[in-house]
Amino acid sequence: MSNLPVTVADIEQAARRIKGRVLNTPFVLSASLCERFGVPVGLKLEHHQATGSFKLRGATNAVLSLTSEERARGVVAASTGNHGRALAHAAKAEGSVATICVSKLVPNNKVSDIRRLGANVLIVGKSQDEAQLEVDRLVAEEGLVMVPPFDNRTVVAGQGTLGLEIVEAMPDVATVFVPLSGGGLAAGVAAAVKGRSPKTRVIGLTMERGAAMKASLNAGRPVQVEEVASLADSLGGGIGLDNAVTFEMCRALLDDVILLSEAEIAAGIRHAYSQEREVIEGAGAVGIAALLSRRFGRLEGPVAVILSGRNVDMDLHRRVINGGVDPLAETAA
Ligand SMILES: *Cc1c(COP(=O)(O)O)cnc(C)c1O
Repeated sequence: MSNLPVTVADIEQAARRIKGRVLNTPFVLSASLCERFGVPVGLKLEHHQATGSFKLRGATNAVLSLTSEERARGVVAASTGNHGRALAHAAKAEGSVATICVSKLVPNNKVSDIRRLGANVLIVGKSQDEAQLEVDRLVAEEGLVMVPPFDNRTVVAGQGTLGLEIVEAMPDVATVFVPLSGGGLAAGVAAAVKGRSPKTRVIGLTMERGAAMKASLNAGRPVQVEEVASLADSLGGGIGLDNAVTFEMCRALLDDVILLSEAEIAAGIRHAYSQEREVIEGAGAVGIAALLSRRFGRLEGPVAVILSGRNVDMDLHRRVINGGVDPLAETAA
């Protein structure tokens, strides 16, 4: 493991660097899930993080790792929303300015939130990859510094601090359920958890619609998949054909990857709301969704489930809670 791009030592350094700038979010046992599965099930309430997702950890570590000259030029990223929001917040907190390029698939509420955090938002193209082309142009022509959403060592190290907090809260944790898209969160969390507790299993969870990391792991190399709308919109986007960090780490460290249907993700959101009294977005619900749908072999407890974000359009959330058959289709209507 020590030959991977990010080690537990890097993550411990990130934890020292970002301490006081991000929350050590609550870790609570779920009475309903403990009872249902007969093992301790802890929920890492990372949707309570400032800006509403774990992305603040990586963005803060990345901005703090820049030189003051780089911070003065400004930072830029392509983002499905939560990374943009986090980078806007982190840049402002450290006296820099963020420019955020997003695709048309990103919900309006996320765009206006990022603008409110003081960033410039550019809406370009219909996929994460097209938004990335504009980022490349701003880096080349205007000297901005790119802070990628996942495929970057300081970002992965920052996300990994969440894994350290889980092991500290639940030292005998046997299984960690982690949402998976580009793999920054999963790579960091797995490196931290396995660095401290090598036998703990780390399971990546993502949606059936457009699961780029799963397709890439199957192919043995980064591959592109078609991007489609999902309740778990924060899990959209490719992993980058020139992926340098997260593909290798996810391949080495993840014990399994489980795919969830839209109905299962909706059930996860509903459980979080009605049983745990938590509002979470689709991407944050995949861990609970995997448990409820029993999409795993034998469940080894204690279990830790990461609720990764809460930035959901509240009209969509209401439709999911009310049991809409296809809440996304109703949006389009
Ligand atoms: C970005 C994000 C994820 C996935 O993280 P990756 O590092 O891209 O795998 C999961 N949940 C939420 C809420 C996110 O914003």
